Amino acid sequence: VTGSFTDKATYDWSSEEEEPDGRARPIQVLVVKDDHTFELDEVALSRILLAEEVHNREVVAISVAGAFRKGKSFLMDFMLRYMYSQASEEWLGEAEAPLIGFSWRGGSERETTGIQIWSEVFLVDKPDGRKVAVLLMDTQGTFDSQSTLRDSATVFALSTMISSMQLFTEYGRLAMEETFLKPFQSMIFLVRDWSFPYEFGYGQEGGMKFLEKRLKISENQHEELQNVRKHIHSCFTNISCFLMPHPGLKVATNPNFDGRLKEIDREFINNLQILVPWLLSPKNLDVKEINGSNITCRGLLEYFKAYIKIYQG
Ligand code: GDP
Ligand code: MG
Repeated sequence: VTGSFTDKATYDWSSEEEEPDGRARPIQVLVVKDDHTFELDEVALSRILLAEEVHNREVVAISVAGAFRKGKSFLMDFMLRYMYSQASEEWLGEAEAPLIGFSWRGGSERETTGIQIWSEVFLVDKPDGRKVAVLLMDTQGTFDSQSTLRDSATVFALSTMISSMQLFTEYGRLAMEETFLKPFQSMIFLVRDWSFPYEFGYGQEGGMKFLEKRLKISENQHEELQNVRKHIHSCFTNISCFLMPHPGLKVATNPNFDGRLKEIDREFINNLQILVPWLLSPKNLDVKEINGSNITCRGLLEYFKAYIKIYQG
């Protein structure tokens, strides 16, 4: 690996209360409130994106999107391990170390539709010599009623607009109901608990074959489903899919499970070791582009504010 994760960004936290111990954590920057209005925490977002070390850097914005309890935090904690270990071979960590980061933190387990951003923006050297800023986003929707479905679709659309890569998590089947209306960069469908490896193997290759089959348009499909299939290719530059095995019963059902590797199925870990570097290795990080131009952290903040206005409109 040629890249290195240098100089962790440090911030001038203006409020002691918000960051009492100075440790990085998820920050809720977008909330959908009960009355279905959107609230952007511009102060929090500015603090992250306008930090001295990152504001002029081109930004790689990675969003993990999906409904509540689809394992987003669990996955993102492993992504954090990779980022903090500077892409080293040993990034997965100790067998008995609990997972920390997005999950199991006060407040982060609430069922909030919206976007959380990891407060630390990572600076990464790409093999071509560019130093880019990597932003990790957790985008969560709720799907319990028509109105929350609409809210969630909006949140996912927003996060898609500001991401260079979006990972959509879904268990066992693909969420094809969501449509995205603008041309974007990368969309990766992450299918969890894949249980037919003899039909389509785990990983990216099996995922691509599975996706091809699922995205095929057939006469007897409902018209709406046909349209989603037609549009999806015109929306994203890259579409891919990764089939992930079940992590094992301890992960799925034990309330005291703390994320330690020892209790996760080997097959899952093997695939995690393929998935995470595929997403995050320095050569694979794509800078966010809008209309063909590379976007900096400062630029992303402006787009975020502009897009939110459209939806508040
Ligand atoms: P989030 O709400 O999307 O952030 O979901 P969490 O990461 O908090 O995970 C919700 C629950 O699903 C936890 O109990 C995890 O241990 C469990 N979990 C995480 N990944 C998987 C997976 O791939 N399959 C299954 N079946 N459970 C998972
Ligand atoms: Mg979560």
